[in-house]
Amino acid sequence: MTEVFSFDDEELSQQTENLNIDDLNYRILPDQEPDSISSSNYEQKDVVSELRKPVPIKQNRRNSSHAIDVNENFVSSINKSYSSAGSLGPYKPKLLDFEPIKVLGKGSFGKVLLVREISTGRLFALKQLKKATLIISDDEINTVNYQRTVNEKSILEMVDHPNIVLLYYAFQDHNKLYLILEYLDGGELFHHLAQERFMSEKNASYYIAQMVLALRYLHTKLGVIYRDLKPENCMLNSLGNLVLTDFGLSKVSSEDDPSHSLTGTAQYMAPEILKGENYGFAVDWWSLGCVAFDLLTGSPPFTGNNNKKIMDKIISSKKNLKFPFYLSQDAKDLLRKLLQANPDKRMDIDGNFDMLKNHRFFRYVDWKQLESGNQSDVLPPILPVITNPVLAENFDPEFTDLPFTPQKHFDLASDILHVKGFTFANESYLEKYRS
Ligand code: AMP
Repeated sequence: MTEVFSFDDEELSQQTENLNIDDLNYRILPDQEPDSISSSNYEQKDVVSELRKPVPIKQNRRNSSHAIDVNENFVSSINKSYSSAGSLGPYKPKLLDFEPIKVLGKGSFGKVLLVREISTGRLFALKQLKKATLIISDDEINTVNYQRTVNEKSILEMVDHPNIVLLYYAFQDHNKLYLILEYLDGGELFHHLAQERFMSEKNASYYIAQMVLALRYLHTKLGVIYRDLKPENCMLNSLGNLVLTDFGLSKVSSEDDPSHSLTGTAQYMAPEILKGENYGFAVDWWSLGCVAFDLLTGSPPFTGNNNKKIMDKIISSKKNLKFPFYLSQDAKDLLRKLLQANPDKRMDIDGNFDMLKNHRFFRYVDWKQLESGNQSDVLPPILPVITNPVLAENFDPEFTDLPFTPQKHFDLASDILHVKGFTFANESYLEKYRS
């Protein structure tokens, strides 16, 4: 009997069996500016220019399903200019280059693991997306899955901002796509609120300001609507600065193709999305209002025991928006301006940033310092306790205690690889097991 390690405890889907790598299409969006690439590192330059080449979208061979490219171009190593981590070089990584340590969390499309790069000992967060979810039949859910994966990788490749998670590598095997992300060892912002339930206005203004900077960067520099601002996606790095993660629902906005899909998390979703209207960047400012409300009071502004009730309240938000007595006039004024049902009347932070910066709610925020990009000199309100990053102390034991190596038993020991105390089964072996 041999114990087999898998990066996922769920059954590998039968659907992947039909997946032919040659069928898959994927378009790589432009990466960083050429200037930011070290001219002394020709090899790296080649990798980046390779990534910048548009990949022709091939005709799908299947009639009822489409699959995204999982060819060579999914494999990338990305170098970001602001990263203190510096370049990781142009090598093409694979799963076996990383040793799993703990489960950090679970998203709607897979687990996120803390991993160590074996050659360097560096820690990363590994996000895995099952290819099974990438096969698109005609139903809505799979269409969303398809978009999520394309979006997450291509948007993160473009992003270079201190308040947005860094993508280092992307690669694939037969079952999954993998994103190797900056490990945000401060955990989720709201994890730190578990004791106090809500935050002082002064402290909250610090994090809200960092959310504003990240969202404005996405809107004005990349033309991306984030669409999924919610507490779980607001994480802290080791210094305690806020970093947005999870770009699966983000979307490059285009006037020719105004967004109208229903996407996001009900409690933080703007009314125009719920009503099925065309929407734009303003949806993120609504969500900012909801997350700010949550930080300041301990719960989002529109709640209910089911999604229908929540959505009804959001749609008729004018009569349902109620503030607890302890909020200051400044906080209420800001929240009212963000939680304005009519997107045309909502605070236009992209168009008039000064109006927001000069709002009294942000009087303690040193915008210059935050905007300079050098946030390491600022002392954030919460300093995450990190005695040893591998312990993942700022993550919920509900995840970190999970046995991330489900022990499945096999009789046949062939097709199995032993690495560093773990056992990996190859795909043909797993297929035997599944059948
Ligand atoms: P996601 O699938 O992106 O929603 O991630 C699911 C959970 O994994 C999040 O709620 C976080 O707790 C955790 N997580 C995601 N990205 C990271 C990261 N870069 N560093 C540490 N933990 C992460």
